[in-house]
Amino acid sequence: MKFSKFGQKFTQPTGISQLMDDLGDALKSDKPVNMLGGGNPARIEAVNELFLETYQALGNDGSFNNSDETNSTATTSMANYSNPQGDAAFIEALVGFFNRHYDWDLTADNIALTNGSQNAFFYLFNLFGGAFNEQDQTVDKSILLPLAPEYIGYSDVHVEGQHFMAVLPHIDEVTHEGEDGFFKYRVDFDALENLPALKEGRIGAICCSRPTNPTGNVLTDEEMARLAEIAKRYEIPLIIDNAYGMPFPNIIYSDAHLNWDHNTILCFSLSKIGLPGMRTGIIVADSEVIEAVSAMNAVVNLAPTRFGAAIATPLVENDRIKQLSDNEIKPFYQQQAKTAVTLLKKELGDYPLVIHKPEGAIFLWLWFKDLPISTSELYETLKEKGTLIVPSEYFFPGVDISDYKHAHECIRMSIAADEQTLIDGIAVIGEVVRGLYDGAK
Ligand code: PLP
Repeated sequence: MKFSKFGQKFTQPTGISQLMDDLGDALKSDKPVNMLGGGNPARIEAVNELFLETYQALGNDGSFNNSDETNSTATTSMANYSNPQGDAAFIEALVGFFNRHYDWDLTADNIALTNGSQNAFFYLFNLFGGAFNEQDQTVDKSILLPLAPEYIGYSDVHVEGQHFMAVLPHIDEVTHEGEDGFFKYRVDFDALENLPALKEGRIGAICCSRPTNPTGNVLTDEEMARLAEIAKRYEIPLIIDNAYGMPFPNIIYSDAHLNWDHNTILCFSLSKIGLPGMRTGIIVADSEVIEAVSAMNAVVNLAPTRFGAAIATPLVENDRIKQLSDNEIKPFYQQQAKTAVTLLKKELGDYPLVIHKPEGAIFLWLWFKDLPISTSELYETLKEKGTLIVPSEYFFPGVDISDYKHAHECIRMSIAADEQTLIDGIAVIGEVVRGLYDGAK
């Protein structure tokens, strides 16, 4: 069978698709696996209970056949398509919620829903990256990632070509809770401001995840203010991927604030509060962007899914989504990060391991300085021993990393697993990595 160029682009094996298959196959095998590799959120009892309670209440409202949209209940919403912008009741609830907690003065024209935020990035990166017609010329524009490493899922979303440019970080040694052995990435603004592509109008948008997947970094308020200023100066939007950020799931431990204005595109998701299967993403943006996203929704999906919206609407209306995030989700991951750091220090405290300061998200980012092999090779050895992590080389979209040693010396490990899996998985990492350093002496 012959596929079009588009078909070929989206069916060719990518590094990440192979890796994800690998992770999936390992989970299906009958051997026990220490799963520190995926991006699934943790199972948190209090969270699951609330979702179940809300779900059962939806089933009990007894009006599945009522098609009166003006008197809509959660189940009637599922028996009808929404308009392409998304479920109107959920959008109204979100407008009230954001205006209650932030001073953003939003209206329903500022919010659209998508089938997960991955779907939102597919739209946004194709809207702002790729070929543009400008003054009778075709200009190829990229999405600028101000700080690599960045989220693996951005890499292959462009319909044609790959349009990312990324800036390598400053690496600062820092302490964490009074202890040494940590580092923090910071944006290299000199390199960013001097990028010829930025000065020459070949950047279509700036984007960062905050907290960052894979590193758990949280760009500071000062860094965000500078990025917002640069984006405005060049008349391009600043896209903030808030999948782990505030106010939900609020997996963020550093002192950070969230801002929005008409030049900012904020992307939220219900996934990391514990509902990844609902595939619900939320975009907050200027009405022009919302209209564009709605038009793309109409073509790609007719309308976005309403099930996540139905579950989340009451939780957004009564603020329980925020309470859940503040009182259950955030403390859970903060404790997981502490446990994992303690275990890692016990296993590798005397070896050249440094950990990115855990400031948020559901991962730790480990840097094995001068490891005698690449972390892609380390991944293979760990996999043979039943422990899965993700090697760092996949997290540098838009950078040629062939001569960048640091990009081959790190791993991402999830902290969403239960405590025993963390203990067992980190013991395997410790044993293998100690052996590698000892063997090189
Ligand atoms: N952005 C980041 C930083 C993520 O880590 C993920 C998922 O892991 C996504 C976006 C996509 O999430 P979803 O499509 O489930 O909303």
